[in-house]
Amino acid sequence: MGKKHRERNWAPAPPALPEDAHVIDDHTHVASVVPFSEAMSHEAVAKGQDPVPVYGVDELLAQAAAVGVEGVIDSGCTLPELMTAVDMAREHPGTVHAAIAIHPNESVLHGHRGVPGPDGLPVRYKPHHDVPFDEAMAEVARLARTYPAQVVAIGETGMDLFRTGEAGKEIQRQAFRDHIALAKELGLPMQIHDRDAHREVIETLLADGAPERTVFHSYSGDAEMAQVAREQGWYLSMSGTCSYKGNEGIRESARIVGLDHVMVETDAPYLTPMPFRGRTNAPYMIPYTLAALAQYLDLPIGEVARATRATTRTVYGI
Ligand SMILES: [Zn+2]
Repeated sequence: MGKKHRERNWAPAPPALPEDAHVIDDHTHVASVVPFSEAMSHEAVAKGQDPVPVYGVDELLAQAAAVGVEGVIDSGCTLPELMTAVDMAREHPGTVHAAIAIHPNESVLHGHRGVPGPDGLPVRYKPHHDVPFDEAMAEVARLARTYPAQVVAIGETGMDLFRTGEAGKEIQRQAFRDHIALAKELGLPMQIHDRDAHREVIETLLADGAPERTVFHSYSGDAEMAQVAREQGWYLSMSGTCSYKGNEGIRESARIVGLDHVMVETDAPYLTPMPFRGRTNAPYMIPYTLAALAQYLDLPIGEVARATRATTRTVYGI
């Protein structure tokens, strides 16, 4: 195949992390990687390329373990996927942990209270959006209480002003506040989704009082925001975006808060790290993100890996 074709196949595995420097992917959607790679495969075949191998959850976890990614926190953040994450954690004790929440872009759809986004695209309802938000939220609380060994965090919650327009902003903020209250009530860490909403997210956290362990998942802020995070003792979880050329502010933020407040994640199937941006992401790709961080911080990769692993232990107790 010529170079002009979009590469739909999996990226090669990175070199394995040192034996004493294994890590956890602290935010991923492993269940979603499977249908995503299926779609990639169909697309490849339609373009006359070779089919892409489709791996199951067990294989994806084994590939991660082979390069030193010893566990994951899988986020179930739509009503039907809450239980998917909990079940995956039950089936893989010690390896898979669950984070559950109603995603900000889902929170505005429940009970059909959705509004068109800033891009003017119509809202696409699914059958589970018939359930009023409060009921969906009650299910998050029920599962977190019923499965304390599996559910290690509330997330991803937060605000997303990229997808949700001004009209949905306050609905989204209220849903975020409900998650903040639940995380505090249960004494759980919270994983934040913040897309084009730094100011609103910070203002809401400060107004309500953030949970003791507050994590910005796929952190996208700059040095100024990192100063706020440092003052507040908030944690930054770095996805593949910290390896992208233009994202100097994200890398600088890691230096500002210090590695005892930094973790690494894939947010798979998206946000694949360099040099494989655009391919399907999966937990085995974490070492590429660690390599980018290590290069920026001018530290050995093993040291960065051990430090982020220690942070996941502090934050999630895993
Ligand atoms: Zn996510």
